[in-house]
Amino acid sequence: MNSDVNNGENPWDNVFASYPSAQRLQRYQSTKKIVTFNKVLGVDLDGRDPKATDYCGCGNCQPMNSPVEAFCCAEILQASTSAAENYTKFSYESCLCENETIKNVVENLTELKLFIDTCKWLGNQDDEEIDLLTKNYRFALYKKLTLLIHGPKQANERLPLPSCLVSFVRSTYPDEDEEYVGFLDY
Ligand SMILES: [Zn+2]
Ligand SMILES: [Zn+2]
Repeated sequence: MNSDVNNGENPWDNVFASYPSAQRLQRYQSTKKIVTFNKVLGVDLDGRDPKATDYCGCGNCQPMNSPVEAFCCAEILQASTSAAENYTKFSYESCLCENETIKNVVENLTELKLFIDTCKWLGNQDDEEIDLLTKNYRFALYKKLTLLIHGPKQANERLPLPSCLVSFVRSTYPDEDEEYVGFLDY
């Protein structure tokens, strides 16, 4: 199993709704304790090769950094957790990324910017996470999608998004497009 937290890759590529605080991230890196239990599928994915995509049934999953992120929307359909049940409101033929609502949320940059500004506007200004939201489209979108799929109650839980959806977000907002600077300046 790979024990690097992010393999030295872009730390912004956190697929969870809540980015850990600096202290938590440091503790996480020093203990190298990697969570492999996937709360959406309800199974431990320890031993799954995140770089292989042989688990994929939708055709859109891409290599990931850690086993817990390496799962497919097709697997969610087979799972019976409450988190998996939250996905049933999005109907799709072969991949979740084809769902119109999901597509609209990912591709609508105006709405994404508005979401970021709204979080900043309504949130605690000292909140480190809100600060992070304003700096990275992908991070903000993972949060927005988690909120859309699971609702506000579970939005703070560390629920990973399936590889195909994360890959869709990454290809829509690649690194070089990183230019967003929060509009609201306090
Ligand atoms: Zn897939
Ligand atoms: Zn898929």
